Amino acid sequence: MPSEFELIARHFTRPAAGAVLGVGDDAALLAPSPGRHLVVSTDMLLADRHFFADTDPGGLGHKTLAVNLSDLAAMGARPRWATLALALPAADEAWLDAFSRGFFALAERFRVDLVGGDTTRGPLALSVTILGEVAPADALRRDAARPGDDIWVSGELGGAALGLAGLRGELTLTATDSVDCLARLHRPEPRVDLGLALTGLAHAAIDLSDGLLADLGHILARSGVGARVELARLPAHPALAGVETALARHCLLAGGDDYELCFTAPPGCRPAILDAGAATGVAVTRIGRIEAGSGLSLLAADGGAIAIEERGYDHFGA
Ligand code: ADP
Ligand code: MG
Repeated sequence: MPSEFELIARHFTRPAAGAVLGVGDDAALLAPSPGRHLVVSTDMLLADRHFFADTDPGGLGHKTLAVNLSDLAAMGARPRWATLALALPAADEAWLDAFSRGFFALAERFRVDLVGGDTTRGPLALSVTILGEVAPADALRRDAARPGDDIWVSGELGGAALGLAGLRGELTLTATDSVDCLARLHRPEPRVDLGLALTGLAHAAIDLSDGLLADLGHILARSGVGARVELARLPAHPALAGVETALARHCLLAGGDDYELCFTAPPGCRPAILDAGAATGVAVTRIGRIEAGSGLSLLAADGGAIAIEERGYDHFGA
């Protein structure tokens, strides 16, 4: 059996060019850029709650970091460092090798250094703390939406939830749709570059981890505003076209795990936001408007209100 220290040395120790001191001491030493705020976020993934224990470990390595990068994207921040806390049922070298490859492949793409962590035996749990930087005036906060703002989302919605429905046997997807939706579920693409490009343009932003209605609801609550969203404008994942209406609508409105960005911006920024999407290779779609008041109205194409029963995922909800 390899020791804990051998495992860390073999799988989680890489040069950390952007740190003063990385893995191996009692703590890491980091030097944030002068004049920037440090941005910190933690996200944890638990077996049997957030993923099936037999999920491909390379995908898990990717997703563990991706969900954290997504939080920094939603702040408009540049990611720089991460720590990784792991609870593992056993020292499975093949599993750790695949997991760390998935993790580091994404870390290298976004130039994030793994600078520390903790490794312990226990039921499989994966927790990353990510650290990044943002200029003080640039942070995209949930409380910054203003009446009159457009509401935008990136990418396509509902693909990850449809992939999960397929895994659970709730429907049978075509082979192509299944591959695509499972990729959305297991290997979400954090919208870091888009988040950075939106600084100075967008007012508020959030990443879509629990579903559009729930996550946009957080912006509304924190900003003290309401919203109108037009159902027909939502950029549905193409695979939803072939799916029965109730399930398709659930995936679109309340499906979690897409990790797209939802953000608000003044109408004067429309051309610049389209440019930001084009420059970062991500579709951006205007889906509605922020209004004075509270609550979210969902409108059909004819302008009629649609009753909202869909809520996002809530770990402590009924
Ligand atoms: P301590 O006993 O001081 O908590 P550890 O033995 O837990 O130290 O960790 C030794 C070093 O390895 C530390 O620098 C720690 O940050 C790092 N480390 C432990 N586990 C991981 C991991 N999964 N990924 C990255 N670094 C890790
Ligand atoms: Mg420790």
